[in-house]
Amino acid sequence: MSGKVAQSLEEACDAFVTWLDRRVVAAGRGDGLDRLDVAPSETFWLGRLGCEDEVRKGTNDDRAERLDPCAIGIRFRPAEAPPWSMTVTVRARAWVKDPKDGPDPDRRWWRTGPVAEKISVVTGAEGGTFGAEQLRDAFAAVGAPGRRAEVRIDVEDWHQDPELVVQLVNTSPEKSRDRTDSHLYETQLEVAGLRTTPFQLEALPDSFRHDRDVPAYGLNVGVEVPAPGVFRSSDTTTVQTVRPDYWNSSRPEPTLSFERLAADPVPELTALVDALEAYDQAHWSGSALATREAVEGWTPGMRAAADEAAVEVFAELDRLQTGLQLLATNRHIRQSFQLMNQAIGWSAQGRGYDAWRPFQVGFLLSAIRFLAEPAEDTKFVDTVWFATGGGKTETYLGLLLTTAFFDRLTGKRTGVTAWSRFPLRLLSLQQTQRFADVLAGAELVRRDAVARRVADVKGAPFSLGFLVGQAGTPNKIVPRPAGDEIGPDSPGIPDKYRVLLHCPFCRDESLRMKFDRQRWKLEHHCTNPRCPWRRGALPVYVVDQEIFRFLPTVVVGTLDKTASIGLQQAMRGLVGPPLKVCSVDWHGFTYATRAKAPNGCLVPSCQGALQSLPMPADRFAPSLRLQDELHLLRDSLGAVDSHYESLLDYLQQELSGNRAKIVAGSATLIGYDRQVKVLYRREGRVFPQPGPRSGESFWTVRKSDKLRRFVAVAPRGVTVEHVSDRTLDALQRSVRRLADAPSAVCTEAGIDPRHVDALLSLYGTNVVYGSTLHDVEAAGRSLGSNSTVDGINVEQLTGQTDFDEVRDILERLEKPEEEFSDRIHVLAASSMLSHGVDIDRLNTMVMLGLPLTTAEFIQTTARVGRRHPGLVYVLHKIGRERDAQTFRHFDKYVRQGDRFVDAIPITRRSRRVLALTLPGLVSARTLMVHEPASRQQLSNPAKLHQYLRDVDLTPDVEAAAVAELLGLDGPEDSLHRQQIVEWVREWFAGLADPTTTARFISEIGHPSPMRSLRDVEAQAPIHD
Ligand SMILES: [Zn+2]
Ligand SMILES: [Zn+2]
Repeated sequence: MSGKVAQSLEEACDAFVTWLDRRVVAAGRGDGLDRLDVAPSETFWLGRLGCEDEVRKGTNDDRAERLDPCAIGIRFRPAEAPPWSMTVTVRARAWVKDPKDGPDPDRRWWRTGPVAEKISVVTGAEGGTFGAEQLRDAFAAVGAPGRRAEVRIDVEDWHQDPELVVQLVNTSPEKSRDRTDSHLYETQLEVAGLRTTPFQLEALPDSFRHDRDVPAYGLNVGVEVPAPGVFRSSDTTTVQTVRPDYWNSSRPEPTLSFERLAADPVPELTALVDALEAYDQAHWSGSALATREAVEGWTPGMRAAADEAAVEVFAELDRLQTGLQLLATNRHIRQSFQLMNQAIGWSAQGRGYDAWRPFQVGFLLSAIRFLAEPAEDTKFVDTVWFATGGGKTETYLGLLLTTAFFDRLTGKRTGVTAWSRFPLRLLSLQQTQRFADVLAGAELVRRDAVARRVADVKGAPFSLGFLVGQAGTPNKIVPRPAGDEIGPDSPGIPDKYRVLLHCPFCRDESLRMKFDRQRWKLEHHCTNPRCPWRRGALPVYVVDQEIFRFLPTVVVGTLDKTASIGLQQAMRGLVGPPLKVCSVDWHGFTYATRAKAPNGCLVPSCQGALQSLPMPADRFAPSLRLQDELHLLRDSLGAVDSHYESLLDYLQQELSGNRAKIVAGSATLIGYDRQVKVLYRREGRVFPQPGPRSGESFWTVRKSDKLRRFVAVAPRGVTVEHVSDRTLDALQRSVRRLADAPSAVCTEAGIDPRHVDALLSLYGTNVVYGSTLHDVEAAGRSLGSNSTVDGINVEQLTGQTDFDEVRDILERLEKPEEEFSDRIHVLAASSMLSHGVDIDRLNTMVMLGLPLTTAEFIQTTARVGRRHPGLVYVLHKIGRERDAQTFRHFDKYVRQGDRFVDAIPITRRSRRVLALTLPGLVSARTLMVHEPASRQQLSNPAKLHQYLRDVDLTPDVEAAAVAELLGLDGPEDSLHRQQIVEWVREWFAGLADPTTTARFISEIGHPSPMRSLRDVEAQAPIHD
């Protein structure tokens, strides 16, 4: 590299990725191999062509032909009328088997020299076949007599314009005793000299944003255009994406550092909003759109779609201007925003960033109006849409801390500010840690502000609650555990429930877990003597009952836990006030009395007295409910959740007289407004609005740094599993070669040797991703037995992986072992990986078939190449129609993925789902509305029955209340209302039954209240 500027790590990564890909493709095609001991048709998956007679003789359908095709081709739209002339170049090789007594009896298969023939073609509208003799002679000349092929040209005129399909077909006779393989290998087709016009990808509503040109379509191959007018088949389709830049304005970028905004947010944010206004005027005004309409030849439909989009864009600008106005004029909002910036700045120290990206702060500006006008603004669900770029969690956290400070400033001294929920087990420990880290920053800032009397943010320390299903952390800890209950001395206690990876205050990793019997708390302790916290146990609660006792500032958890609202009266702390406070130190808030909690205190055998609440009851309910991965709330899970969301809203209204603002994050734009309406019965609003052109908006613009190299593979003749094994094998073999022979590889790949260690770390762990558990497990297993490399360490990361194992794997990935041989080499993962696993060392991925949804594709592949160029092999299950279609336009699929995101199937009007949710809804009303109103304990059926009679509450009245709560009160919902009435009547009859053996209310009625929203099959499609 002498005489040149030293190669950067980025450039080295790019060169290495190119080299890796070359090696994988070579392994798939057989490049560079001269002899084999096994049949080539059982090994290679790229570049091969089966023989036509055999393929056609098999099952006579498209699917079989895609699985082991006998032809590759390119489809064109000729620019001129026939006759058409062109030069077609065919390249191929054959493999031939020697007799037993040949020169190398152990490796009897040998590869012939290359065939490369230029065939001149002139064809009229009837098409024809060309070059058969020329190719036959060429194969004979390289030692494969009998192999045959031809160029076949079909003209299809059933479209508006004629289309020309140029194919290379393997016409070899079927295999016979002496010719054991009739395939052709390393095939390639090149067409030059034909004038063409591009195809137009099918129009979609917002097509004014997109370039829809497709120069030519491949048949069983990708198409490259190496020079103008030259089309060449490629075995794989490669799409290189680039990193975005986050400022796209000719104006100077304002300083959005945490420090600057903490000092004085208004000037910089004014500059930001002014720049946005200028951009919107330049791109979205009537005259700007009229110009594009004329220049780009828009249809009236395209113009109308652009006009509609412009309305949304200017509404967004208006929201940002309102937010800015509030920062300038509302003292509490400004102060909260400043303190938040101080806190985020503290927690970002040493992490390589000190400022917001413009879109992050843009979202905050657009959302803060709800603080000033909650009643008006909670009508809207604000959805953050992140198709590109990271920083979603930080954006939530910014809003969350602003709200927490605002709550304190306006007299909320304790209680939950936000309940943040992730679907299923998609909440990772890393994600939780980020919440803990910023809350620690906020707590230090809060303490300091109180001490210096700069802001009135007195009250309980900011704290975090971790509310997940029993598989993660315990619901409660009991003195004498029975069954699967957990006690202070149960196996694994307390270490098993360590949730934090490090101390959020000092980042020291030597945390100690402890169960404090006096306080009846499962605690995280920091052992660093210089830790700034200095107050004993860290303010983190991981046991459900501790969360109810202390009502931490932010509760993060999984969505399935929402079901507890129908089972657990102490869940009321998440929608309204608790009842009292226990007089004993560290016992916390109290709830309804029960046999095991005679005074309502949740600490076993408590003798404490009850004291009144420390602040007005209506301030306890959360100000915010956050929903991450909104697009996953679909099908049954979405339907069930829609009922429970309504229940939460109803209870908060009943108990607190207000409702929470809902903020969500989604990977999907299409159909989000309807989804939000079904789920929350509120209006949807999305930020940021998509820009005027695909890949470009005020908030993002493409720059030149490489992001991910996507390689589409359509395996031929062998299974996807085989290809996955061979691909991982080639990747591992290559990276080990870098370790063993660094100078040879560096020369070959063009890499500066000083980057070798970094490359080994950054590309030494491959992810294999499967959408189903079955795929993931199979991939992990078969790799072990089928690799040519020894000692590949495989780990699995799925929803079934134990909690502490996940923690261990993440730690090993983040801080790899010193010796390469000890590291994790292959991570077999399911969608568990797609959420919050942010590891910069994951840069290569093999995907087993396209995931079910485009959103999953986008999110999953975003896990690799976070900081360095990534490499993703997408193995298409080419027998499936959808995979085959996507392979055809893979380039557009990757670049305009957001347009391929399918609308979300969801309804709240499923009667099957209603049957599941009804018991929980009725139970929640009993626990949280009827029982407190009765001023007595209604925990057994007889007492409840008596009370309902005393207040004259009939089944029909109860049923009407439930129907109203769900919004099932329209004329089209009469069947649903009938279903509710019937169920509630039966439930009343159960209560009244004198012979009942039920001791608890939850034992009445069928089925029992849901214990987890996961009790429903998440993927099962449902209908109204
Ligand atoms: Zn510490
Ligand atoms: Zn107590």
